[in-house]
Amino acid sequence: MDMITMDEAIDLVLQHTSPIDKTNAGLMDALGCTLAEDVRSDIDMPPFDKATMDGYAVVGSDVEGAGQENPAVLDVIEEIPAGSVPQETVSPGRAARIMTGAPMPDGADTVVMVEETVSERDGEGVRVLAPTEPGRNVAPLGEDVRRNQVVLEAGTWIRPPEIGILAAVGVVGVPVYRRPVVGVVATGSEIVEPGNSPAEGQIRNSNGYSMMAQALRSGAHTRYLGIVEDDEDALKDVISRGLDECDVVLLSGGVSAGIYDLVQGAMRDCGVEIHFDRIRMKPGKPLTFGARGNKLVFGLPGNPVSAVVGLELLVRPAVRKMQRMSEIHRPMVRGRLAQGFRQSPGRKQFVPARSAEVNGCWESNWVGHHGSADLFSLTRANSLFVVEAEVEALDAGAEVDIVLLEAW
Ligand code: AMP
Ligand code: MG
Repeated sequence: MDMITMDEAIDLVLQHTSPIDKTNAGLMDALGCTLAEDVRSDIDMPPFDKATMDGYAVVGSDVEGAGQENPAVLDVIEEIPAGSVPQETVSPGRAARIMTGAPMPDGADTVVMVEETVSERDGEGVRVLAPTEPGRNVAPLGEDVRRNQVVLEAGTWIRPPEIGILAAVGVVGVPVYRRPVVGVVATGSEIVEPGNSPAEGQIRNSNGYSMMAQALRSGAHTRYLGIVEDDEDALKDVISRGLDECDVVLLSGGVSAGIYDLVQGAMRDCGVEIHFDRIRMKPGKPLTFGARGNKLVFGLPGNPVSAVVGLELLVRPAVRKMQRMSEIHRPMVRGRLAQGFRQSPGRKQFVPARSAEVNGCWESNWVGHHGSADLFSLTRANSLFVVEAEVEALDAGAEVDIVLLEAW
Protein backbone atom coordinates (compact mmCIF):
# COMPACT_ATOMS: atom_id res chain seq x y z
CA MET A 1 0.00 0.00 0.00
CA ASP A 2 1.32 3.46 -0.94
CA MET A 3 2.53 6.01 1.52
CA ILE A 4 0.14 8.98 1.15
CA THR A 5 0.27 12.64 2.13
CA MET A 6 -1.41 14.01 5.22
CA ASP A 7 -3.96 15.90 3.11
CA GLU A 8 -4.85 12.70 1.27
CA ALA A 9 -5.15 10.87 4.58
CA ILE A 10 -7.52 13.50 6.00
CA ASP A 11 -9.64 13.35 2.82
CA LEU A 12 -9.85 9.56 2.95
CA VAL A 13 -10.88 9.57 6.60
CA LEU A 14 -13.58 12.18 6.02
CA GLN A 15 -14.82 10.39 2.90
CA HIS A 16 -15.54 7.33 5.01
CA THR A 17 -17.11 9.27 7.87
CA SER A 18 -20.90 9.40 7.84
CA PRO A 19 -23.20 11.42 10.08
CA ILE A 20 -24.37 9.69 13.20
CA ASP A 21 -28.00 9.17 14.21
CA LYS A 22 -30.09 11.67 16.17
CA THR A 23 -31.14 11.21 19.75
CA ASN A 24 -32.94 13.11 22.49
CA ALA A 25 -30.48 14.24 25.12
CA GLY A 26 -31.31 15.48 28.59
CA LEU A 27 -30.89 19.21 28.93
CA MET A 28 -27.44 19.10 30.53
CA ASP A 29 -26.21 16.22 28.36
CA ALA A 30 -26.83 18.38 25.30
CA LEU A 31 -23.97 20.72 26.24
CA GLY A 32 -21.33 20.51 23.51
CA CYS A 33 -23.59 18.59 21.10
CA THR A 34 -24.92 19.76 17.74
CA LEU A 35 -28.63 20.48 17.55
CA ALA A 36 -30.30 18.10 15.08
CA GLU A 37 -33.58 19.99 14.54
CA ASP A 38 -34.85 23.56 14.70
CA VAL A 39 -36.19 24.46 18.14
CA ARG A 40 -39.23 26.74 18.43
CA SER A 41 -40.50 28.60 21.44
CA ASP A 42 -43.81 27.44 22.90
CA ILE A 43 -44.34 30.84 24.55
CA ASP A 44 -43.95 34.56 24.01
CA MET A 45 -40.97 36.08 25.83
CA PRO A 46 -41.60 37.94 27.95
CA PRO A 47 -44.89 36.07 28.34
CA PHE A 48 -46.65 39.26 29.60
CA ASP A 49 -45.91 42.98 29.76
CA LYS A 50 -43.30 42.88 32.49
CA ALA A 51 -41.90 45.43 34.92
CA THR A 52 -38.12 45.67 34.54
CA MET A 53 -37.59 47.77 37.69
CA ASP A 54 -38.83 47.86 41.25
CA GLY A 55 -41.13 50.86 41.62
CA TYR A 56 -44.64 51.97 40.78
CA ALA A 57 -46.80 51.05 37.79
CA VAL A 58 -48.52 54.23 36.67
CA VAL A 59 -50.27 55.96 33.80
CA GLY A 60 -47.41 57.58 31.90
CA SER A 61 -49.09 60.95 31.43
CA ASP A 62 -49.30 61.29 35.28
CA VAL A 63 -45.52 61.33 35.69
CA GLU A 64 -43.90 62.68 32.53
CA GLY A 65 -43.83 66.20 33.96
CA ALA A 66 -43.07 65.33 37.59
CA GLY A 67 -40.13 67.01 39.42
CA GLN A 68 -38.83 68.13 42.82
CA GLU A 69 -40.90 71.32 42.56
CA ASN A 70 -44.09 69.74 41.26
CA PRO A 71 -44.17 66.10 42.40
CA ALA A 72 -46.94 63.80 41.20
CA VAL A 73 -48.84 62.50 44.19
CA LEU A 74 -50.62 59.22 43.55
CA ASP A 75 -52.77 56.78 45.56
CA VAL A 76 -51.24 53.31 45.89
CA ILE A 77 -53.96 50.74 45.25
CA GLU A 78 -52.13 47.42 45.28
CA GLU A 79 -48.78 45.62 45.66
CA ILE A 80 -47.68 43.27 42.85
CA PRO A 81 -44.73 40.99 43.70
CA ALA A 82 -43.15 38.87 40.91
CA GLY A 83 -45.17 35.71 40.42
CA SER A 84 -48.52 37.28 41.33
CA VAL A 85 -51.38 38.42 39.10
CA PRO A 86 -52.57 42.06 39.39
CA GLN A 87 -56.16 42.42 40.58
CA GLU A 88 -56.81 46.14 40.10
CA THR A 89 -56.84 48.53 37.18
CA VAL A 90 -54.59 51.57 37.39
CA SER A 91 -56.25 54.83 36.38
CA PRO A 92 -54.97 58.44 36.38
CA GLY A 93 -53.99 59.54 39.87
CA ARG A 94 -53.31 55.97 41.00
CA ALA A 95 -50.32 53.65 41.14
CA ALA A 96 -49.53 50.02 42.00
CA ARG A 97 -46.33 49.11 43.90
CA ILE A 98 -44.60 46.63 41.54
CA MET A 99 -41.48 44.45 41.66
CA THR A 100 -39.08 43.54 38.85
CA GLY A 101 -40.44 40.62 36.83
CA ALA A 102 -44.09 41.15 37.84
CA PRO A 103 -46.86 41.54 35.23
CA MET A 104 -48.08 45.08 34.60
CA PRO A 105 -51.58 45.82 35.82
CA ASP A 106 -54.26 46.90 33.34
CA GLY A 107 -54.27 50.62 32.70
CA ALA A 108 -50.58 51.17 33.55
CA ASP A 109 -47.99 51.62 30.80
CA THR A 110 -44.98 52.94 32.74
CA VAL A 111 -42.92 52.02 35.81
CA VAL A 112 -41.42 54.79 37.95
CA MET A 113 -38.24 53.59 39.66
CA VAL A 114 -38.58 53.39 43.42
CA GLU A 115 -35.42 55.52 43.74
CA GLU A 116 -37.33 58.46 42.26
CA THR A 117 -40.19 58.32 44.76
CA VAL A 118 -41.00 58.88 48.40
CA SER A 119 -43.65 56.76 50.03
CA GLU A 120 -46.25 58.59 52.10
CA ARG A 121 -49.37 57.97 54.19
CA ASP A 122 -47.94 54.61 55.44
CA GLY A 123 -47.61 53.33 51.89
CA GLU A 124 -51.11 54.38 50.89
CA GLY A 125 -49.63 57.11 48.73
CA VAL A 126 -46.50 57.90 46.75
CA ARG A 127 -44.78 61.14 45.77
CA VAL A 128 -42.98 60.99 42.40
CA LEU A 129 -40.04 63.42 42.36
CA ALA A 130 -38.62 63.03 38.84
CA PRO A 131 -40.09 62.72 35.35
CA THR A 132 -40.39 59.32 33.67
CA GLU A 133 -41.03 59.00 29.98
CA PRO A 134 -44.24 57.07 29.27
CA GLY A 135 -43.55 53.39 28.44
CA ARG A 136 -40.26 53.24 30.37
CA ASN A 137 -39.18 50.25 32.46
CA VAL A 138 -41.69 47.88 30.87
CA ALA A 139 -40.72 44.96 28.62
CA PRO A 140 -43.66 44.33 26.32
CA LEU A 141 -45.07 40.85 25.76
CA GLY A 142 -43.14 39.00 23.04
CA GLU A 143 -40.45 41.66 22.77
CA ASP A 144 -37.62 39.07 22.73
CA VAL A 145 -39.30 36.06 21.15
CA ARG A 146 -42.73 35.31 19.70
CA ARG A 147 -44.51 32.03 20.24
CA ASN A 148 -43.58 29.47 17.52
CA GLN A 149 -40.53 31.47 16.50
CA VAL A 150 -37.43 29.36 15.75
CA VAL A 151 -35.04 30.22 18.56
CA LEU A 152 -32.23 27.78 17.68
CA GLU A 153 -31.52 26.37 14.24
CA ALA A 154 -30.53 22.80 13.43
CA GLY A 155 -26.75 22.64 13.29
CA THR A 156 -26.20 25.00 16.22
CA TRP A 157 -23.41 23.99 18.55
CA ILE A 158 -24.87 23.96 22.06
CA ARG A 159 -22.99 26.22 24.47
CA PRO A 160 -24.13 27.46 27.90
CA PRO A 161 -26.37 30.25 26.48
CA GLU A 162 -28.12 27.73 24.21
CA ILE A 163 -28.74 25.52 27.27
CA GLY A 164 -30.43 28.53 28.85
CA ILE A 165 -32.63 29.09 25.79
CA LEU A 166 -33.61 25.42 25.64
CA ALA A 167 -34.63 25.64 29.28
CA ALA A 168 -36.57 28.86 28.64
CA VAL A 169 -38.60 27.29 25.84
CA GLY A 170 -39.19 24.10 27.82
CA VAL A 171 -37.20 21.71 25.63
CA VAL A 172 -35.94 19.19 28.17
CA GLY A 173 -35.38 16.39 25.63
CA VAL A 174 -33.02 18.04 23.20
CA PRO A 175 -32.80 16.73 19.61
CA VAL A 176 -29.06 16.34 19.03
CA TYR A 177 -26.67 14.21 17.05
CA ARG A 178 -25.57 11.38 19.32
CA ARG A 179 -22.05 11.54 20.66
CA PRO A 180 -20.05 8.80 18.94
CA VAL A 181 -18.73 6.05 21.18
CA VAL A 182 -14.98 5.77 20.78
CA GLY A 183 -13.47 2.51 21.99
CA VAL A 184 -9.83 2.61 23.04
CA VAL A 185 -7.39 -0.30 23.05
CA ALA A 186 -3.74 -0.24 24.06
CA THR A 187 -1.84 -3.01 22.32
CA GLY A 188 1.57 -4.36 23.27
CA SER A 189 2.81 -7.22 25.44
CA GLU A 190 4.98 -4.76 27.37
CA ILE A 191 2.09 -2.49 28.42
CA VAL A 192 0.75 -2.47 31.99
CA GLU A 193 -1.94 -0.41 33.70
CA PRO A 194 -0.85 2.83 35.39
CA GLY A 195 -1.62 1.48 38.87
CA ASN A 196 1.22 -1.06 38.54
CA SER A 197 4.94 -0.65 39.04
CA PRO A 198 6.33 -1.74 35.69
CA ALA A 199 8.58 -4.81 35.90
CA GLU A 200 11.68 -4.93 33.73
CA GLY A 201 10.78 -4.39 30.09
CA GLN A 202 7.31 -3.10 30.87
CA ILE A 203 5.83 0.31 30.06
CA ARG A 204 2.85 1.99 31.67
CA ASN A 205 -0.15 2.52 29.44
CA SER A 206 -0.18 6.25 28.90
CA ASN A 207 -1.67 6.20 25.41
CA GLY A 208 -4.92 4.53 26.42
CA TYR A 209 -5.66 7.38 28.78
CA SER A 210 -4.41 10.30 26.73
CA MET A 211 -6.41 8.92 23.79
CA MET A 212 -9.58 8.67 25.87
CA ALA A 213 -9.02 12.19 27.16
CA GLN A 214 -8.63 13.50 23.62
CA ALA A 215 -11.69 11.59 22.41
CA LEU A 216 -13.72 13.11 25.25
CA ARG A 217 -12.51 16.57 24.33
CA SER A 218 -13.50 15.88 20.71
CA GLY A 219 -17.07 15.40 21.88
CA ALA A 220 -17.20 11.61 22.02
CA HIS A 221 -18.14 9.13 24.71
CA THR A 222 -15.33 6.71 25.42
CA ARG A 223 -15.23 3.02 26.17
CA TYR A 224 -12.02 1.56 27.50
CA LEU A 225 -11.40 -1.82 25.95
CA GLY A 226 -8.20 -2.50 27.89
CA ILE A 227 -4.69 -3.66 27.14
CA VAL A 228 -4.25 -6.44 24.59
CA GLU A 229 -1.06 -8.43 24.03
CA ASP A 230 0.64 -8.73 20.65
CA ASP A 231 -1.41 -11.79 19.81
CA GLU A 232 -3.51 -12.22 16.69
CA ASP A 233 -6.51 -13.86 18.30
CA ALA A 234 -6.61 -11.44 21.23
CA LEU A 235 -6.43 -8.51 18.78
CA LYS A 236 -9.19 -9.97 16.62
CA ASP A 237 -11.40 -10.45 19.69
CA VAL A 238 -10.95 -6.90 20.90
CA ILE A 239 -11.43 -5.33 17.46
CA SER A 240 -14.57 -7.31 16.85
CA ARG A 241 -15.92 -6.33 20.28
CA GLY A 242 -15.01 -2.71 19.51
CA LEU A 243 -16.85 -2.87 16.17
CA ASP A 244 -19.94 -4.24 17.94
CA GLU A 245 -20.01 -1.74 20.79
CA CYS A 246 -18.49 1.44 19.37
CA ASP A 247 -18.66 3.81 16.42
CA VAL A 248 -14.92 4.33 16.28
CA VAL A 249 -12.18 1.99 17.49
CA LEU A 250 -8.75 3.37 18.33
CA LEU A 251 -5.80 1.10 18.87
CA SER A 252 -2.34 2.21 19.82
CA GLY A 253 0.77 0.29 18.93
CA GLY A 254 1.45 -2.67 16.69
CA VAL A 255 1.23 -0.86 13.37
CA SER A 256 4.88 -0.55 12.36
CA ALA A 257 6.94 -3.08 10.47
CA GLY A 258 7.97 -5.30 13.41
CA ILE A 259 7.10 -8.99 13.35
CA TYR A 260 4.79 -8.44 16.33
CA ASP A 261 2.93 -5.62 14.62
CA LEU A 262 -0.26 -7.53 14.04
CA VAL A 263 -2.95 -4.88 14.21
CA GLN A 264 -3.52 -4.42 10.49
CA GLY A 265 -3.93 -8.16 9.90
CA ALA A 266 -6.39 -8.43 12.77
CA MET A 267 -8.35 -5.49 11.37
CA ARG A 268 -8.62 -7.22 7.98
CA ASP A 269 -9.68 -10.47 9.64
CA CYS A 270 -12.53 -8.56 11.28
CA GLY A 271 -13.80 -7.40 7.89
CA VAL A 272 -12.29 -3.94 8.09
CA GLU A 273 -11.30 -2.51 4.71
CA ILE A 274 -7.92 -0.79 5.01
CA HIS A 275 -7.68 2.59 3.27
CA PHE A 276 -4.13 3.54 4.17
CA ASP A 277 -1.36 2.39 6.46
CA ARG A 278 1.44 4.91 6.09
CA ILE A 279 1.40 8.70 5.95
CA ARG A 280 4.21 10.94 4.77
CA MET A 281 4.16 12.75 8.12
CA LYS A 282 6.22 13.06 11.22
CA PRO A 283 5.60 12.02 13.93
CA GLY A 284 3.49 9.02 13.14
CA LYS A 285 4.32 7.58 9.74
CA PRO A 286 2.77 4.16 10.42
CA LEU A 287 -0.92 4.84 10.94
CA THR A 288 -3.54 2.41 9.75
CA PHE A 289 -7.04 3.53 8.89
CA GLY A 290 -9.91 1.33 7.84
CA ALA A 291 -13.68 1.14 7.89
CA ARG A 292 -16.38 -1.49 8.13
CA GLY A 293 -19.72 0.02 7.18
CA ASN A 294 -20.08 3.23 9.22
CA LYS A 295 -17.52 2.13 11.76
CA LEU A 296 -14.04 3.53 11.65
CA VAL A 297 -10.90 1.86 12.96
CA PHE A 298 -7.63 3.69 13.53
CA GLY A 299 -4.41 1.86 14.33
CA LEU A 300 -2.35 4.68 15.82
CA PRO A 301 1.39 4.36 16.41
CA GLY A 302 2.51 3.33 19.88
CA ASN A 303 4.83 6.25 20.35
CA PRO A 304 2.93 8.66 22.57
CA VAL A 305 3.56 11.84 20.61
CA SER A 306 2.64 10.13 17.35
CA ALA A 307 -0.56 8.81 18.86
CA VAL A 308 -1.53 12.23 20.21
CA VAL A 309 -0.80 14.04 16.94
CA GLY A 310 -2.51 11.42 14.78
CA LEU A 311 -5.59 11.58 16.96
CA GLU A 312 -5.80 15.36 16.86
CA LEU A 313 -5.32 15.64 13.10
CA LEU A 314 -7.23 12.60 11.86
CA VAL A 315 -9.53 11.13 14.47
CA ARG A 316 -10.87 14.33 15.99
CA PRO A 317 -12.16 15.71 12.65
CA ALA A 318 -13.96 12.41 12.02
CA VAL A 319 -15.59 12.40 15.47
CA ARG A 320 -16.71 15.97 14.93
CA LYS A 321 -17.93 15.40 11.38
CA MET A 322 -20.08 12.51 12.65
CA GLN A 323 -21.83 15.01 14.92
CA ARG A 324 -22.10 17.54 12.07
CA MET A 325 -20.06 20.11 13.90
CA SER A 326 -19.20 23.02 11.65
CA GLU A 327 -15.61 23.43 12.81
CA ILE A 328 -14.12 19.98 12.51
CA HIS A 329 -10.43 20.88 12.25
CA ARG A 330 -8.24 22.58 14.79
CA PRO A 331 -7.82 26.25 13.92
CA MET A 332 -4.67 27.09 11.97
CA VAL A 333 -2.90 30.45 11.93
CA ARG A 334 0.15 31.84 10.15
CA GLY A 335 3.01 32.83 12.39
CA ARG A 336 6.77 33.04 12.76
CA LEU A 337 9.30 30.67 14.24
CA ALA A 338 11.11 32.01 17.29
CA GLN A 339 14.12 29.79 16.55
CA GLY A 340 15.52 28.15 13.45
CA PHE A 341 14.52 24.55 12.73
CA ARG A 342 16.14 21.75 10.67
CA GLN A 343 14.80 18.42 9.46
CA SER A 344 15.73 15.69 7.07
CA PRO A 345 13.29 16.26 4.19
CA GLY A 346 10.74 13.69 3.10
CA ARG A 347 7.80 13.94 5.50
CA LYS A 348 5.59 16.84 6.54
CA GLN A 349 6.38 17.47 10.16
CA PHE A 350 4.07 18.61 12.96
CA VAL A 351 6.27 19.96 15.69
CA PRO A 352 5.06 20.39 19.28
CA ALA A 353 5.44 24.06 20.15
CA ARG A 354 4.40 26.78 22.50
CA SER A 355 2.80 29.57 20.47
CA ALA A 356 1.44 32.94 21.48
CA GLU A 357 0.21 36.07 19.80
CA VAL A 358 2.76 38.84 20.34
CA ASN A 359 1.69 42.29 19.13
CA GLY A 360 -0.88 40.78 16.79
CA CYS A 361 1.59 38.29 15.28
CA TRP A 362 1.74 34.59 16.15
CA GLU A 363 5.11 33.35 17.31
CA SER A 364 5.98 29.70 17.80
CA ASN A 365 8.62 28.23 20.12
CA TRP A 366 9.76 24.69 19.59
CA VAL A 367 9.40 22.88 22.94
CA GLY A 368 12.46 20.81 22.11
CA HIS A 369 11.30 17.22 22.27
CA HIS A 370 13.53 14.17 22.05
CA GLY A 371 11.41 12.46 19.45
CA SER A 372 8.06 10.81 19.16
CA ALA A 373 8.31 8.99 22.50
CA ASP A 374 8.73 12.21 24.49
CA LEU A 375 5.32 12.67 26.03
CA PHE A 376 6.72 15.19 28.52
CA SER A 377 7.45 17.71 25.79
CA LEU A 378 3.73 17.82 25.01
CA THR A 379 2.88 19.18 28.44
CA ARG A 380 4.73 22.33 27.42
CA ALA A 381 3.06 22.54 24.02
CA ASN A 382 -0.17 24.26 23.04
CA SER A 383 0.26 23.95 19.28
CA LEU A 384 2.07 22.26 16.41
CA PHE A 385 3.99 24.17 13.80
CA VAL A 386 4.06 22.66 10.36
CA VAL A 387 7.21 22.08 8.35
CA GLU A 388 6.55 21.06 4.75
CA ALA A 389 8.06 17.75 3.60
CA GLU A 390 10.59 19.18 1.16
CA VAL A 391 12.00 21.82 3.53
CA GLU A 392 15.45 21.23 4.99
CA ALA A 393 15.93 24.27 7.18
CA LEU A 394 13.89 27.21 8.39
CA ASP A 395 15.52 30.31 9.84
CA ALA A 396 14.30 32.10 12.91
CA GLY A 397 11.46 34.36 11.80
CA ALA A 398 10.38 32.04 8.97
CA GLU A 399 6.63 31.94 8.33
CA VAL A 400 4.85 28.69 9.17
CA ASP A 401 1.35 27.32 9.68
CA ILE A 402 0.55 26.76 13.34
CA VAL A 403 -2.15 24.34 14.43
CA LEU A 404 -3.63 25.60 17.70
CA LEU A 405 -4.41 22.95 20.24
CA GLU A 406 -5.93 25.27 22.83
CA ALA A 407 -8.95 24.08 24.74
CA TRP A 408 -7.44 20.63 25.23
P1 AMP B 1 4.76 0.14 18.62
O1 AMP B 1 3.98 1.11 17.78
O2 AMP B 1 3.92 -0.99 19.12
O3 AMP B 1 5.98 -0.32 17.90
O4 AMP B 1 5.24 0.94 19.89
C1 AMP B 1 6.14 2.01 19.77
C2 AMP B 1 6.59 2.49 21.13
O5 AMP B 1 5.51 3.01 21.85
C3 AMP B 1 7.18 1.40 22.01
O6 AMP B 1 8.29 1.93 22.69
C4 AMP B 1 6.06 1.09 22.96
O7 AMP B 1 6.52 0.55 24.16
C5 AMP B 1 5.40 2.43 23.13
N1 AMP B 1 4.01 2.24 23.48
C6 AMP B 1 3.16 1.40 22.84
N2 AMP B 1 1.94 1.45 23.39
C7 AMP B 1 2.01 2.33 24.42
C8 AMP B 1 1.08 2.79 25.38
N3 AMP B 1 -0.19 2.33 25.40
N4 AMP B 1 1.49 3.71 26.27
C9 AMP B 1 2.77 4.16 26.24
N5 AMP B 1 3.70 3.74 25.37
C10 AMP B 1 3.34 2.84 24.46
MG1 MG C 1 4.35 -2.78 20.01
